[in-house]
Amino acid sequence: MSREIVTPTLTASLDVECPYCGEWFDLFDGDDDHIYQGAIFGNRWEDLEGDKHHCPKCEAELTIDTVDY
Ligand SMILES: [Zn+2]
Repeated sequence: MSREIVTPTLTASLDVECPYCGEWFDLFDGDDDHIYQGAIFGNRWEDLEGDKHHCPKCEAELTIDTVDY
């Protein structure tokens, strides 16, 4: 019986669709200060509610609602 050690790799994204231009983007992209990743992986999802983010395509200001999964 083989007992190889394997390393699991976690991949995650926090995807949003811009209601103005239809662009899909990942809030984890460019999250250099770990605002989004810190809230999600720190189990503080509610901290993101009301947060403002600009669409990378049309630059509209968007307000983050409750995270769905
Ligand atoms: Zn947009």
